[in-house]
Amino acid sequence: MMSSEGALPLSEVPSAASSRRLFEQSPNELDSRGGGIVLQPDVIEAFRFGGVKLPSPPGADSGDRIYLDRDDRIIEQFPMPQTQTSWSLIYSAMRRGLPAEIIHPGERVTHLEQNAQTVTAHFESGRVEEAELLVGADGPRSAVRAQLIPGLQPTYAGYVAWRGRLEENDLDLNAAEVLRDRFTFQQGEAHLILVYLVPGEDDAAGVGKRRWNWVWYRALSDESLKSLMLDRNGTQRSRSLPPGTTKDEDIAELRSAAKACLAPTLQVLVEQTPEPFVQAIQDLRVEQMVFDRAVLLGDAAYVPSPHTAGSTAKAAANAVALAHVLMFNDGHPLVAALSRWEVQQRRLGIGMSELGISLGDRIMQLRD
Ligand SMILES: Cc1cc2nc3c(=O)[nH]c(=O)nc-3n(C[C@H](O)[C@H](O)[C@H](O)COP(=O)(O)OP(=O)(O)OC[C@H]3O[C@@H](n4cnc5c(N)ncnc54)[C@H](O)[C@@H]3O)c2cc1C
Repeated sequence: MMSSEGALPLSEVPSAASSRRLFEQSPNELDSRGGGIVLQPDVIEAFRFGGVKLPSPPGADSGDRIYLDRDDRIIEQFPMPQTQTSWSLIYSAMRRGLPAEIIHPGERVTHLEQNAQTVTAHFESGRVEEAELLVGADGPRSAVRAQLIPGLQPTYAGYVAWRGRLEENDLDLNAAEVLRDRFTFQQGEAHLILVYLVPGEDDAAGVGKRRWNWVWYRALSDESLKSLMLDRNGTQRSRSLPPGTTKDEDIAELRSAAKACLAPTLQVLVEQTPEPFVQAIQDLRVEQMVFDRAVLLGDAAYVPSPHTAGSTAKAAANAVALAHVLMFNDGHPLVAALSRWEVQQRRLGIGMSELGISLGDRIMQLRD
């Protein structure tokens, strides 16, 4: 996101009417297969703050949390009502809420440069844009971060997340009976699986139109990760394999491990999922979020391991706090406001990173 009213000095505050531009590398509306996200209050607050309507319903509700054992017995059950949504529902709703003229799809930022008055972004297409502030919200593989902090690489957390999505009505009826309207877990030796319903095609959240979303965290050595990340076409990938690219033998290993380790209900779920896919869990944190006229937020700045279920909420909180700083700064120098924002948001990022690492290590039994 870039914001400008021409070349304002850093000490001046951009007004709400500033010219804002948003550049997204994807040329299309992203499809509705995105991963599941627990809908947290900070995300709802970002919608409220931005005056953007959340779809109704915003996702699939679950009432109880249950823990299954290897024999399908419910060993723990407690009420914890929450709504599960999807990355694509949040993305599409936010995108619809923005004025079309500020969105520039198919524009991949490659590098930037700045001087005392402006920041200039360069795009793969050859496009060049100038502004007074650039917000690098370009996710865990941020190109903006790569330039601002060369050499900073995520650390592999020692385990992977196998993921799957299955149309609601394609799951065996007995398995669906156990899982429906619940958030289900099974914790085992160095592995944890969880499953819940999320919106389906075109973000539909009605009964029968949703999808089962499961994530199976499994410990994996660095060496085995490298061989897993070699895709079915012989391309060596570093952190994730999209649906359809995992080698047949790795899918076969997954299904056979499911038979050996999972509760029968969850075995059926894994067995019936057409194209499981996988990503390495990584941790990344920055020491700095403000670089004169460029800032980093969301996963571009901190990638905590997913057990916090709060990383999207963190991205939303970063963004709302930044908007407050830009809109309600009472004429103070922008540089001071950004620095205050950075102190608070770093605290949030560090806290979530540490929580994610400690939860991950404990759940995956990686360290004593
Ligand atoms: C297994 C797993 C489970 C998870 N579960 C949860 C959960 O339950 N709850 C939760 O809150 N979070 C969860 N997360 C994390 C969550 O998905 C992220 O924290 C969140 O999407 C971060 O938002 P973001 O806007 O910072 O980045 P992103 O969502 O990655 O968005 C970045 C955007 O920038 C675009 N982009 C990237 N590079 C460029 C470029 N060079 N130029 C232009 N555009 C670019 C991308 O196309 C994308 O639209 C999970 C993550 C994993 C791996």
